[in-house]
Amino acid sequence: MNAHDSERMDEVLRSQGWNAVENASGADLIVFNTCSVREKAEQKLRSEVGKLAPLKRSRPDIIIAVAGCVAQQEGDALLKRITHLDIVIGPDNIAELPALVRAQVGGAPAISRAVFDISSPYFLTANPEPGRVPVSTFVTTMKGCDERCSFCVVPYTRGPERYRPATEIVAEIERLVDSGAREIVLLGQTVDSYRDASLPPPVSDDPDESQFPSLLRLIANSVPKLSRLRYTSPHPRHATASLAAVHGELDVLAQHVHLPVQSGSDRILKRMIRRYTRAEFVARAERLRSARPGMTLSTDIIVGFPGETDDDFEQTLSLVREIGFTSLYGFSFSPRPLTPALRLHDDVPKELKRERLARLFAVAEEIGQAHLKTLVGTRQQVLVERSSKGERPAENSDGPRRFEGRTARNEIVHISIPQGSGALGEVVDVDIVEANKHSLEGVLTESARERLPADRPTTWMRRGRVSLPIMSA
Ligand code: SF4
Repeated sequence: MNAHDSERMDEVLRSQGWNAVENASGADLIVFNTCSVREKAEQKLRSEVGKLAPLKRSRPDIIIAVAGCVAQQEGDALLKRITHLDIVIGPDNIAELPALVRAQVGGAPAISRAVFDISSPYFLTANPEPGRVPVSTFVTTMKGCDERCSFCVVPYTRGPERYRPATEIVAEIERLVDSGAREIVLLGQTVDSYRDASLPPPVSDDPDESQFPSLLRLIANSVPKLSRLRYTSPHPRHATASLAAVHGELDVLAQHVHLPVQSGSDRILKRMIRRYTRAEFVARAERLRSARPGMTLSTDIIVGFPGETDDDFEQTLSLVREIGFTSLYGFSFSPRPLTPALRLHDDVPKELKRERLARLFAVAEEIGQAHLKTLVGTRQQVLVERSSKGERPAENSDGPRRFEGRTARNEIVHISIPQGSGALGEVVDVDIVEANKHSLEGVLTESARERLPADRPTTWMRRGRVSLPIMSA
């Protein structure tokens, strides 16, 4: 969500004549986009902004802004604490950023603007520069969250759920696909709780049912040129029978769902206020998998939640094995401001949290590796997304270039592509020849190589973390 917000800030600033520069000393404006989901990210912000104090002293005209969830959470207090800060801006106020910057250039006092757009939600439309659309592109479907998971600060920093009209979502996807996007990742805090009165109503009065399956159908039918459709992150509560059914129906939907479970212990799930039991989660995961054979699942897990015993943690490990998550994001619990879990005693020692996290990652690696090895010797369809990390082929080199793509099940595949061929954005047949620790090595099939178009003079952008746009007027 933050990476997506950074892209929108980049666009609104560029539209007003700002451009990115290489480093802070050459900038007229520095925007930190922040996350407050974990304490570490917040500490990092303080340290990074702190480092700019000497620069601000030597160049008082430079404008320093903090955006995102820390800005929303702290508002004015942040301005008081960090006196060389000029702007504090919440996620719902991104469109106002250029005007606030203009006011600062004109000498206005430092300002905090962090107001939720509850009565008339506004979704900034993606407006990428022509030829700079990432192969895989995020599209916002909703903002905020109505859940109250006891550990999570998001409902307080992103506000209540507000949904973007389906017609607006489809129009944005059409525009992005026409500009070169091949995969769309629908984005929402609980993306599968989506509602829009213009869509067919949920299939029952069950509060877990939503209109998300209808939105997926609408997108698939309206944008036939779309190669792949993913979404993140669904709440397991809304992974209903109708969501499973739509996975069985629509080929365009990826064979992968990131389904955050957080814990494998019912006792901890209850304390986390996740509103499902382990057995319910397993049943929902299995239902999704049986709707689309071969589907992979990944997840998020918190270790060391207050009161988590050795037995609770063992249950988490056993769930990871039972489901066979092919990858996971694991985090140590850290108390966040405003959250109900603050009232619980953070009683799992840091060292024990570290140990549990290491054991969790070891199990995840074992499962992930075993899964990747089963794919060696198979043929897979890979959407080529970008040059492999760190690869900067010499301008005039004749050798093949290394690219990275993903299968529909989300396995990362590295491929060598002959010079002169335009592979980015293509779905290619690849023979898998080797399994690395977290990815696969593939070789283009003969016919895939022949079918590759000539290299296009298009600049493709990477989707990824845009954490620190440094802007110059
Ligand atoms: S569902 Fe829970 S974890 Fe996810 S954003 Fe909402 S409150 Fe946070």
